[in-house]
Amino acid sequence: MINLWPLLLPAAAWSGWSLAKRQLSSKSNDNSNQFSREYVVGLNYLLNEQPDKAVDIFIKLLEVDSETVETHLALGSLFRQRGEVDRATRIHQNLIARPQLSLYQRKESLMALARDYMSAGFVDRAERIYLEVVALGGDRELSSLRGLLIIYQQEKEWEKALDIIKKLELSAGVSLQAETAHYYCEIALRNLKNNQTDKAFQAMKQALSVDKQSVRASLMLADFEVKNGRYKQAIKALKRVPDQDAEFLNEIIEPLVLCHRELDIMDECIDYLEQKLPDYPRASVIFVIGEYLSKEKGVDFAIDYVSSHLGKHPSIRGLNKLIHWHLESAHGKVRDKLQMLYAITTKFLENKPIYRCRNCGFAGHLLHWHCPSCKEWGSIKPIHGLEGD
Ligand SMILES: [Zn+2]
Repeated sequence: MINLWPLLLPAAAWSGWSLAKRQLSSKSNDNSNQFSREYVVGLNYLLNEQPDKAVDIFIKLLEVDSETVETHLALGSLFRQRGEVDRATRIHQNLIARPQLSLYQRKESLMALARDYMSAGFVDRAERIYLEVVALGGDRELSSLRGLLIIYQQEKEWEKALDIIKKLELSAGVSLQAETAHYYCEIALRNLKNNQTDKAFQAMKQALSVDKQSVRASLMLADFEVKNGRYKQAIKALKRVPDQDAEFLNEIIEPLVLCHRELDIMDECIDYLEQKLPDYPRASVIFVIGEYLSKEKGVDFAIDYVSSHLGKHPSIRGLNKLIHWHLESAHGKVRDKLQMLYAITTKFLENKPIYRCRNCGFAGHLLHWHCPSCKEWGSIKPIHGLEGD
């Protein structure tokens, strides 16, 4: 608490002096003497590290008018930043109880109180305040809408989030299609969990109609079609992904191979991947083609094909898999050495993330559509290059 005094004392002193000056000019000497006594008591509480009592005294002392509102807000903000949310809340509640505040001051005070409630985890109280500020309109409407959006995302109230994001788009004059599509995908996920498959399907379609570039909606639709045995529709959805965002190409490989195998048309899958390979030389693509070649033209041919492509586009994951291939036909000392190399590369890859947030750098083994660190939607993507695919 001691570190706060250099900031708190000048603010309190200025307010006290300002009030004293006004009171001296307009009220009796008795009143000003009373003020001075209480002011000194308040300062003593501060100096004796009894901030609760000091806050009570200063709230009582500071007459809330147009000149002291800023001081109250500054004090409240200081307390919140120090993690002393109760004190910040008391100061801001005291402010909004004053009828003489201008509309602008009232909104500033309400926003400060909403931030206190958010810090304290009183989400429903913060929501009520943000809704009140939105209803007042004008300044702070955008901040309140953003506050509401954070709450509804946190509480997974996606229908409310959709309503707010539409208002935000109108007020801010920006397009938030990508976020909107993610909300529809979240609704689809919830419906799937509740076995409401028709509703889930509709929500996925809505996601795609809002944002034609939604990789997540395409992958969800493909998964939905695979589970229902509609492999052709699944292939159609999967093939949309590289055009939406080529960075997600490796996410479609496994289901794409599965669908083509089910339909017994693997040659079409290989044709498609060979077309993609020059622009997107991913290890996952090289190995699918390699495995196909292994069956069609023999293991040696396949190993030459994979080695040649990995030589041009090195990847440790690719090398790891290539060593595994060689192991199957190796014997004696060569096999022992390959086994050791395989163990080393496997160990190395165990600790390497597969996905990374392009916004904040958060990395992990799972594809989160909402970054757990920076809360950005769709910013986490597969890692490519030497340590990636
Ligand atoms: Zn992030």
